[in-house]
Amino acid sequence: MAADIKFMKSALTLAKKGIGNVESNPAVGCVVVKDNKIIGKGWHKKFGGAHAEINALKSCKQSPAGATMYVTLEPCCHFGKTPPCTNAIIKAGIKKVVAAVKDPTRKVAGKGFKILKKAGIEIKTNICKNEAEKLNAPFFKFAKTKKPWVIVKWAQSSDGFLARSDEKRWITNSASRKDVHNLRKKVQAILVGINTVLADDPMLTVRPDNGRQPLRVVLGRASKLPQNCNLFRTAKKSPVYIFKGRNLNNVLARLGKRNIQQLLVEGGQKVITSFLKQKLADEIIIYTSNEKLARNGKIKTSQIMKKTYNRLKINYIDKRLFAKDVRLKGFIK
Ligand SMILES: [Zn+2]
Repeated sequence: MAADIKFMKSALTLAKKGIGNVESNPAVGCVVVKDNKIIGKGWHKKFGGAHAEINALKSCKQSPAGATMYVTLEPCCHFGKTPPCTNAIIKAGIKKVVAAVKDPTRKVAGKGFKILKKAGIEIKTNICKNEAEKLNAPFFKFAKTKKPWVIVKWAQSSDGFLARSDEKRWITNSASRKDVHNLRKKVQAILVGINTVLADDPMLTVRPDNGRQPLRVVLGRASKLPQNCNLFRTAKKSPVYIFKGRNLNNVLARLGKRNIQQLLVEGGQKVITSFLKQKLADEIIIYTSNEKLARNGKIKTSQIMKKTYNRLKINYIDKRLFAKDVRLKGFIK
């Protein structure tokens, strides 16, 4: 059991390397173990690319026949963008498969285990299940609810301003802003309110362009958007969706229908508060700079936004420094 946990943790560490490049596939890691030693490891590196199990089998330094495979998700058994992993596992002569958690999607949902068992492979599951589910929380939520995982993000000065009135454009430093682009890389849609478009004229794209731009979503009336705004100018390259309705639950359901598994809400204040108040946010990310803006500050976090935020129960809090900026990240209970 202790060995199972140790090897599964190695597989989980590998899985994390795929985050930002594999979505909306889950991030998966895998190690192949023989005589208590890792003889092969792999992870799912890129959306549409080989799965973790295949990469791990390919990397084996000796024959994987008779070995145990540790994988962070149930192996797939369907032809998607690649052939099923179950075939490759059986062919390689793997004796036992230890999987952290069952794949919740309908096309797998235990069928992968069944096929492997039928081929005489021993199956063990629910090892480091919580960690594995947390790692792919958006994937699990989407499979269950058909609605996207909602990440609410904002940047603020140390005295709580969300925008500045001086000639400088940004509140946070370049390291934080680079991190935001990494964040945008893993979501399939970014949402802002119309006031943010009018005030900042944002692009809401991933830079540098990795060929997978998120859908851009605006809440508000289309007629209010200026024809020459950045969103319209670039609409051919990456689509823009405008929702007039205030029913956010309905917006989420509609985005879910378009297979949006992760949605990043980038503001402004009104939109953020609505998502938090209606308990529709799953994750929160706040960048706080060490600079006080005082007179150079424009929009301050409102009492209502602060109150709503203070009422949230936040789990798995992660604090990280980006030079002098602090990023606070957490899952909302
Ligand atoms: Zn697979």
